[in-house]
Amino acid sequence: MLRISAGSVHPVTAPSIADGAVLVDERGKIAAVGPAATVAAPAGARQLEFPDGTLVPGLVNCHTHLELTHLAGRNRETAFARWIREIRAMKDAATPEQFSRSAEQGVRAAWAAGVTCVADTGSTGAPLEALARLGGRGIYYQEVFGPDPAKCGESLAELRQAVGRLGPLASRHLRLGVSPHAPYTVSDALYRAVTDYALREGLPVAVHLAESREESEFVRDGTGPFADALQARGITVEARHCSPVQYLGRLGVLERATGWLCIHCVQVDEADIASLRDAGAAVAHCPRSNRVHGHGTAPLAAFRRAGLRVGLGTDSVVSVGDADLRAEADAAGLVDEDALRTLTIEGARALGLDSEIGSLDVGKDADLAVFSSTNLHQPPPSSTALLTVVAGRVVHG
Ligand SMILES: [Zn+2]
Repeated sequence: MLRISAGSVHPVTAPSIADGAVLVDERGKIAAVGPAATVAAPAGARQLEFPDGTLVPGLVNCHTHLELTHLAGRNRETAFARWIREIRAMKDAATPEQFSRSAEQGVRAAWAAGVTCVADTGSTGAPLEALARLGGRGIYYQEVFGPDPAKCGESLAELRQAVGRLGPLASRHLRLGVSPHAPYTVSDALYRAVTDYALREGLPVAVHLAESREESEFVRDGTGPFADALQARGITVEARHCSPVQYLGRLGVLERATGWLCIHCVQVDEADIASLRDAGAAVAHCPRSNRVHGHGTAPLAAFRRAGLRVGLGTDSVVSVGDADLRAEADAAGLVDEDALRTLTIEGARALGLDSEIGSLDVGKDADLAVFSSTNLHQPPPSSTALLTVVAGRVVHG
């Protein structure tokens, strides 16, 4: 058993507690939370005390690319379509060992930032393997690419093979999903085929959607840098005369999907937001990445007004340079309890995991983090946690 006391405890779903404590049972679940004087200290329980610390639920990072951790600071390309192509080239040059080390480094950096759950997209499987090896929590979405409709069968077969290989690593703490990457890398046929497959297998789905203006131009007009690149490969590009969100809606994939995680959603209007809400989608909001790439600002207030589930994500360290999730709340203009809720229970809700994590409630898994108390409302330059616990196990600090 583990008993952690702190100068202030923020359950998120209940008022904050001064001089509080949390008791974690042998199954890694929260057994008690309250004023320290009322929380039992069973004989033999490991006791950790942070009189000047702030104890919060573990943070939930709704969008990462952990396999790219080793590429931090290495892509200087500024035009987005070229930046994406450069990432592809760098990935082609990396070895499986590099991806493995990179993913492991990414998991540890997340824990150091107080993050206890990640929603990661990748193509190598290394992040899921690292999470399984190190005992982390998260959802790993295996990416699938294929802009050429003639190669749909081939892409789907590769996806099924990857899912078959990685499936045994899924557990109570680790889920495996799929990610048809983005409208400019996935054909109509492949979107439909992956949706059918995911529904059949009960796999969660994440998609990069409505991120750049170039993507909107590609979908609406069939022109721009993404169209040029596909046409150079002999792939026919069609103008869809609609937004990326409406495009997925017309394909019938959003409506049939059960709660897709839509990453970015910057280039959206009120009709798009209503469509996302009606489809039960959630949004992974990545304000710093959107800013760095010059995509603009996602309409967080409108998402919330519409009742969309929204969590925050750091995106890859290649884009933003670090995995500091609290800096995303800052960049999103969120403060105090609102920031903390969005980083914890709202992130968990966006991933469909709020019955297991996201708040300090008796019976939930003990995912939590302790920060020095001055850090809670004013993110410091580096939001390093003093302690990070996943399912009752100390993973950092
Ligand atoms: Zn991304």
